[in-house]
Amino acid sequence: MLDILHHGGASGVTGSCHQLVLDREHSLLIDCGLFQGEDAARDSFEQLTVEFDVSPLKALIITHVHIDHIGRLPYLLAAGFSGPILCSIPSARLLPLVIEDALKIGFTRNARLIEQFQAQLERQLVPLPYGQWHTVVDASGMTTRVKLKRAGHILGSSYVEVSHQGARGEKERVVFSGDLGAPYAPLLPAPQSPYGCDQLVLESTYGDRRHPDRRARRATLKAAIEQALENGGTVMVPAFSIGRTQELLYELETIIHQARGPQGRRWRALEIIVDSPLAARFTQVYRELKPYWDAEAQRRLRGGRHPLSFDNLYTVESHAEHEQTVEYLARNGRPAVVIAASGMCAGGRIMNYLKAMLSDARHQVLFVGYQGAGTPGRDIQAYGPRGGWVEIDGERIDIKAGVITLSGYSAHADQEDLLNFVKRMRRWPCRIRLVHGEREARVALARELKALYRRKGREVEVINAT
Ligand SMILES: [Zn+2]
Repeated sequence: MLDILHHGGASGVTGSCHQLVLDREHSLLIDCGLFQGEDAARDSFEQLTVEFDVSPLKALIITHVHIDHIGRLPYLLAAGFSGPILCSIPSARLLPLVIEDALKIGFTRNARLIEQFQAQLERQLVPLPYGQWHTVVDASGMTTRVKLKRAGHILGSSYVEVSHQGARGEKERVVFSGDLGAPYAPLLPAPQSPYGCDQLVLESTYGDRRHPDRRARRATLKAAIEQALENGGTVMVPAFSIGRTQELLYELETIIHQARGPQGRRWRALEIIVDSPLAARFTQVYRELKPYWDAEAQRRLRGGRHPLSFDNLYTVESHAEHEQTVEYLARNGRPAVVIAASGMCAGGRIMNYLKAMLSDARHQVLFVGYQGAGTPGRDIQAYGPRGGWVEIDGERIDIKAGVITLSGYSAHADQEDLLNFVKRMRRWPCRIRLVHGEREARVALARELKALYRRKGREVEVINAT
């Protein structure tokens, strides 16, 4: 079977980067992500520079535009990679925005360099329609094609099917799951399993968990916010600029649309603030990518609703405006929902809200996404409900605000969804490599996968990095 090298994302949830080795001179790279949280705590410089040989790379395939899947792209280009960069059409629209932001944060603030880099990216970018084969290698007697399919994780997200025929006629199908979404995700159709493969590289973020409250999550979200309305406080939602923010807006529009009576009036008066110029730009692009929304969202559009731009939605742009908003909400008893990055409370504007409001019991922190080990988000989630504290910028802050975690909003498949991804293939893979999960998650998923194969009397080799 074809060899796969992992340059990140094998033993942690961030830094995804996998190399499919076709032969000595030909390889494909799937994702080139940045390490974050605990995964980044080691020698960070070594993790940033791309240390592997880029000369055999014939193409880079991007599964989706989250920073832990594309953040090392500037370093890859700096290391001399000049081949095609393949991704879905919506990803190609979103990618320049994410990259511009990533460059400003970690690489350079030099406008000319950023422009040059974006121009180079533009030249190498090859947007692919979903479901169509595209030949990436046709040389030395071998043919290798790739196809993208919807992964339901964020808009534009894909899993990758690779069809390879070697020089001696040997054939192999490899599937890279990227990050798989959960069914019932707002805006996104659920992922459909591929027909089959020989080798599967499978994410395992929630390999040890099931999302229990997926169907009830809208009610839970509503209840959490109504509690804040009652307290006269702010609901702080740390969210990734891309994906989660738009899904939340979509859900909030639903609740506002359905709310009736006195509670309905309060909902319609509630200010919903997106404090992130980047998230606002993504929301704009999300609106332009309507054709890629799921059937339910399409129905709402036809019904004259605007799921991502409603009346009481405000965007905070400048830094001055941001500071004013923090101060205003911390002092004032006016209920509001604030959505700000970063999703794991590891920097970004959410930090100023947390510093100003965590120690005030009127407010609430609402987690809707995965909190990586070693991030302040994980600490708030773990110690907040026990009346603990968290350290932010060297300052110890007691957590008096309410802390709520809504697991049903995870953009990731849970254990059952991951097993279903395999189960629903007509031809099951005989080798599965588990990536993109913390150790316990991978161990639990490996156990379940082996049990699944055993029940069907089939053989499988599960490779689990240690
Ligand atoms: Zn992701």
